[in-house]
Amino acid sequence: MLLREVEYAKPTSVADALELLAANDGARALAGGQTLINVMKARAASPDMLVDLNGLDELKGIELGADGTLSIGAMTTYTELTQSAEAKARPILAEVVGTIADVQVRNRGTIGGNCCANDPTNHLPPLMAAIGARFTIAGAGGERDVPAEEFFLGVYLTAVGPGELLTRVTIPAGKHDGFAAVTLGVDGTCICNAAASVNGSVRVALGCVDAVPVVLAPASADEDAVREAVRGAGLQPPSDVHASAEYRTQLAEVLAVRAARQAQERT
Ligand SMILES: Cc1cc2nc3c(=O)[nH]c(=O)nc-3n(C[C@H](O)[C@H](O)[C@H](O)COP(=O)(O)OP(=O)(O)OC[C@H]3O[C@@H](n4cnc5c(N)ncnc54)[C@H](O)[C@@H]3O)c2cc1C
Repeated sequence: MLLREVEYAKPTSVADALELLAANDGARALAGGQTLINVMKARAASPDMLVDLNGLDELKGIELGADGTLSIGAMTTYTELTQSAEAKARPILAEVVGTIADVQVRNRGTIGGNCCANDPTNHLPPLMAAIGARFTIAGAGGERDVPAEEFFLGVYLTAVGPGELLTRVTIPAGKHDGFAAVTLGVDGTCICNAAASVNGSVRVALGCVDAVPVVLAPASADEDAVREAVRGAGLQPPSDVHASAEYRTQLAEVLAVRAARQAQERT
């Protein structure tokens, strides 16, 4: 289906982009367009104006701090993440984004767009929740820093409010991470996924079972503890054409165990 007519702006600074977004109620940020353009074609969203972020170098780049903290610009693509020497400091990032869809999607899709879309089947929301990412949001009033547990608010809904932009994602140091998913075909949409981080404390985040990642803190990364934590979460996942709620509940437990095991075995 063709897009309905829409105004288009390509600002040259974040300040200009914020002004455009604040001045137009119906304006939406355009990142890789790999979700937004599709929902516009399906008429599930019809913004009046697209504010294209692709010319904004301020939203690009991956910096590695002396303490191993990664600061990743919201407009960094999956391909740039997989090719970045700095991003290797947290190996799970490239491993996971390298499995998203196909080359075309990976060349256009961005870390910021994936998180801001907060599609419950996306790979990155549970991963970001498990590894303790923080999100920098800019608006007319300046910048604020939001932890993952306060960033993902609902289906297609995040802490980024009207007139605001996600500018950076900050990821703490750590190597002991895991990710497991059951997808529709190879590299397809997730039916269920789980991310785990065993860097000091143990954190597991489940995707596709609720509107936002379900974050658990098992007593340990051992199988019994992880199973107990998932069972105790009282999951009520959706049923759809791809999986029943019962199947997703079972997958969540199995994938959480796999992700935690992978995290634990990482050297
Ligand atoms: C065929 C296909 C298969 C796919 N399979 C998967 C998959 O298996 N797993 C997966 O995780 N994803 C998948 N995707 C989605 C893909 O990863 C998208 O790239 C991602 O969901 C959105 O990122 P984007 O950069 O394209 O954002 P866009 O589509 O441009 O934007 C998405 C939303 O975020 C907002 N937004 C974007 N950037 C910002 C910002 N900096 N500040 C504020 N708001 C912002 C936009 O306004 C929009 O509402 C698939 C896409 C396609 C086309």
